[in-house]
Amino acid sequence: MANTIWTTEEFTCESCGMNYTATREEHPDKRSGSFSCRICNAEVHYWSGYHHFFNWQAVRSKVPVFGKKK
Ligand SMILES: [Zn+2]
Repeated sequence: MANTIWTTEEFTCESCGMNYTATREEHPDKRSGSFSCRICNAEVHYWSGYHHFFNWQAVRSKVPVFGKKK
C-alpha cells in the first residue's frame, strides 16, 4: 500500500480534558469505530466514513481545556 495517506489528528476528552492524538488512515471502503477515554471511559471520538483512526496516544504536556461549559 504505497499510496496510503496517514495524518495525525488531535482530540480532547470532553469529560475530563485529557488530550489524545490518533493516526487517521484513509480507506477505500467505509469504516466506523470509536475511542473511549482511558482516564474516565467517556467516548472521545466516534467516526464513520472512508477513514479509520488508530494508534491512540495520550498527550500530557498540553494546555488543559477544563471548564468548557455551556
Ligand atoms: Zn476523559
